[in-house]
Amino acid sequence: MPLLEVDRVEVYYGDFKAVSGVSFSLASGQVEALIGANGAGKTTLLRTITGLLRPRAGRIRFDGEDVTGLPAEALACRGISMVPEGRMLFPSLTVEENLQMGTLTRRVGPWKLDAVYDIFPALKDLRQRNATQLSGGQQQMVAIGRALLSNPRLLICDELSLGLAPVVVEEIYRTFERIRGAELAIVLVEQDVARALATSDQLTCLLEGQVTLQGESREITLPEVTAAYFGE
Ligand code: ATP
Repeated sequence: MPLLEVDRVEVYYGDFKAVSGVSFSLASGQVEALIGANGAGKTTLLRTITGLLRPRAGRIRFDGEDVTGLPAEALACRGISMVPEGRMLFPSLTVEENLQMGTLTRRVGPWKLDAVYDIFPALKDLRQRNATQLSGGQQQMVAIGRALLSNPRLLICDELSLGLAPVVVEEIYRTFERIRGAELAIVLVEQDVARALATSDQLTCLLEGQVTLQGESREITLPEVTAAYFGE
């Protein structure tokens, strides 16, 4: 049984349909890359899976349970956690206080503060610093660490590399390989199409809210993705 099933989901803003009949399913331990041009509906779909938006049609099932329309808090407690676009740290809190926000779901699992400091050693020295005093890359590490501390079963990452220097992006994705585990499924939005293909097991390309390409990443070629990306 898949951990996550997105089944013909449609999401609107008023009369505007931003996501149109999108389906995919994802097993534990697998990574789904979601790609598409600006405005394709990627963030809308992620926010729907995390319960921040309600679909007007279609179903979302998590671990066999129909969770369509459940609020974000209820989904977080079931193990769906998001690293949002723009990191969304609490500016008045320290690094460690920001990290600890992740423990509010009280889920138990392998991720504790020490485990986060183990994969991001730089954060340990900075733990009493205010979050706003960090570089963009360090802030992204805090956002990832905070999500991991909720011990998620599904981790949702919206554009991890946005605004970061290439060397920092490399570092984040190297750590990503240590985070992937048999018990964790990941949905990843990534603008770098080659990286999205290389990092994922399966891929969905959206264009204006609709799926233009879907399949196993190792069977999809870069020219195919490029054509689907631009709707050629
Ligand atoms: P980007 O790469 O720019 O983040 P995206 O693929 O994540 O793009 P979305 O942000 O999901 O796309 O937006 C999908 C469509 O919905 C776009 O046409 C966008 O203008 C529209 N949209 C997004 N948020 C809202 C909103 N709050 N109200 C109305 N329309 C919105």
